[in-house]
Amino acid sequence: MTDHIEDLISAYIDYELTEEERKLVEEHLEQCLECSALRNDLLAIQNQIFTSLRPIEAPVSLEDKVITELKMKVSTSRTRLRKWFLVPILTVLVLFVIVAIFSNSILFNLSSILVKFGFNMIYAIGNVLGAEPLMVLSMAVIALVIIITSGLSIKHLLKSKVIQGDSI
Ligand SMILES: [Zn+2]
Repeated sequence: MTDHIEDLISAYIDYELTEEERKLVEEHLEQCLECSALRNDLLAIQNQIFTSLRPIEAPVSLEDKVITELKMKVSTSRTRLRKWFLVPILTVLVLFVIVAIFSNSILFNLSSILVKFGFNMIYAIGNVLGAEPLMVLSMAVIALVIIITSGLSIKHLLKSKVIQGDSI
């Protein structure tokens, strides 16, 4: 009796052997109870896997549905993203208007605040640093509000991203 062919049985079952190897395995299986028992076991396992993993036919429209759904998700998440980036920017703008009113400076011209935004920012910082403690305190509160608002919008962004990821 030649050596057992355990290593080849799995490949034999999966039709991965050459014609020559196949013949050798079949000859051996006819004479060897041990190897033919192993082949039967492997076939049983394979059958079990195939029956438990019965393929399900996907509906023809599935691909189109998935693509449409994904396109919709991408566009809605983009608008949501834009909207939430506006919140901190608008907050900063509103706060600068408030600072302009409180500081009574001619440099803070409300009509040109958007055009002179960068310019005004430098003056606002300068004004606040030179002003009384109440001004510094109010600026600290404003900064805190900006940080909290930004934090909340980032949190919202992350949350909406996670929900999106889950549903895909
Ligand atoms: Zn054998």
